[in-house]
Amino acid sequence: MSKKVAVIGAGPSGLAQLRAFQSAKQKGAEIPEIVCFEKQSNWGGLWNYTWRTGVDEYGEPVHCSMYRYLWSNGPKEGLEFADYSFEEHFGKQIASYPPRAVLFDYIEGRVKKAGVRDWIRFSSPVRNVEYDPDTEKFTLTVHDLEKDSVYKEEFDWVVVATGHFSTPNVPYFKGFERFNGRVVHAHDFRDAREFIGKDILIVGTSYSAEDIGSQCWKYGCNSVTVSHRTAPMGYDWPDNWQEVPLLTHLDGKTAHFKDGTTKDIDAIILCTGYKHHFPFLPDDLRLKTANRLATADLWKGVVWIDNPKLFYLGMQDQWFTFNMFDAQAWFVRDVILGRIEVPKDRDVMLADVADRVAREDAGKDAHDAIEYQGDYVKELIAETDYPSFDVDGACEAFYEWKHHKAENIMTFRDHSYKSVITGSMAPKHHTPWKDALDDSLESYLQN
Ligand SMILES: Cc1cc2nc3c(=O)[nH]c(=O)nc-3n(C[C@H](O)[C@H](O)[C@H](O)COP(=O)(O)OP(=O)(O)OC[C@H]3O[C@@H](n4cnc5c(N)ncnc54)[C@H](O)[C@@H]3O)c2cc1C
Repeated sequence: MSKKVAVIGAGPSGLAQLRAFQSAKQKGAEIPEIVCFEKQSNWGGLWNYTWRTGVDEYGEPVHCSMYRYLWSNGPKEGLEFADYSFEEHFGKQIASYPPRAVLFDYIEGRVKKAGVRDWIRFSSPVRNVEYDPDTEKFTLTVHDLEKDSVYKEEFDWVVVATGHFSTPNVPYFKGFERFNGRVVHAHDFRDAREFIGKDILIVGTSYSAEDIGSQCWKYGCNSVTVSHRTAPMGYDWPDNWQEVPLLTHLDGKTAHFKDGTTKDIDAIILCTGYKHHFPFLPDDLRLKTANRLATADLWKGVVWIDNPKLFYLGMQDQWFTFNMFDAQAWFVRDVILGRIEVPKDRDVMLADVADRVAREDAGKDAHDAIEYQGDYVKELIAETDYPSFDVDGACEAFYEWKHHKAENIMTFRDHSYKSVITGSMAPKHHTPWKDALDDSLESYLQN
């Protein structure tokens, strides 16, 4: 009987795994049977936008954490697929910070071309995974939501690609339950227009804080107050922004901060991060890690040390995204195909993790972190036939991006960078980001 691989999740990471196997097959390799289980009714992961919040039509937790008017928060030149350039997809070079719909279209273009949609079972959340050391097989319990039937199926390998920016981390502050306004986590934020004319309080200093605040500012909120636990973001914000110390409590509509100051507010948006959450995995297979560049317990950042037939993709904190997921997926494919050998000695694998942690900890700033993750991408692609590309050039785009953000946080998206895949320079977008209110693909692609 042929061997089988289960891929859980059809977001950018899971799709990278499908493309990796399809590319080996295209080159004449024999591959195992691949079955990808996706909880949503379409592919694209977080990039598959829905207006829904809370639960979906089947009562499943909504996966999407994206919102309308979301434009890429980093330059597309840092994430471009090495085997499928933006120019190949759009027939021309496009500007550097595409809105969500444009990136969704790009992600979809590569897997449509690869013809792997038939490998995916949609509306099929995996409920449970068990490993039997005697048969050396995993049994997956899957819920077919359309038929409302639950079944079990055996696999030889499992790749977990379920993402880690979907289950919100929600802190409590005294007075929340009596606050006369909306308290919402970034996961459920959908449309900045809801906050037109409002005084909003953002808790946290993550990308979400920066971007959701900027969205609300762009679409006309009255003021933005950002409360930080450790340090302010420190950008040169517009006049109606302020950064304040941590929220201590609320008294009606009045927010109180650690330095004794107060501010009357209409709505609170919690940009307080996400949890790695794998409710379908038992203790001995479940990754427990902080959101960092060097994850716990994964050899080469992908192979589960206690059972090297189980893999995780995309579980790191991310500077690099799509092309890093590719580097990981090609690596995992080659482990499964027996082209790359996993060390037999558990201590060797643990030493690999410890070394990654130490190297990350030795870094001082964002520049070091970008370089560190760039080196990781280089390390993995050197071991497979993933098309080699100028990773240092992609790092350069990230350094420039950081620089442009420091220069002006509301204009950084008006800059252009050079593709490290095709060598061509991105054109300037037709409208500055702050004035471009239409985030549709049609509008973005207009010359
Ligand atoms: C608000 C926001 C903005 C972002 N902006 C950018 C950006 O501008 N540029 C960038 O490069 N990255 C951005 N990211 C980072 C993002 O993590 C990656 O781009 C990418 O989506 C990660 O891909 P993934 O496949 O690992 O995870 P996801 O995209 O989360 O996909 C995981 C998939 O697994 C499925 N799934 C989950 N559980 C199960 C289950 N039990 N059974 C079956 N299927 C399951 C989900 O439905 C989903 O389709 C952003 C993230 C967020 C939250």
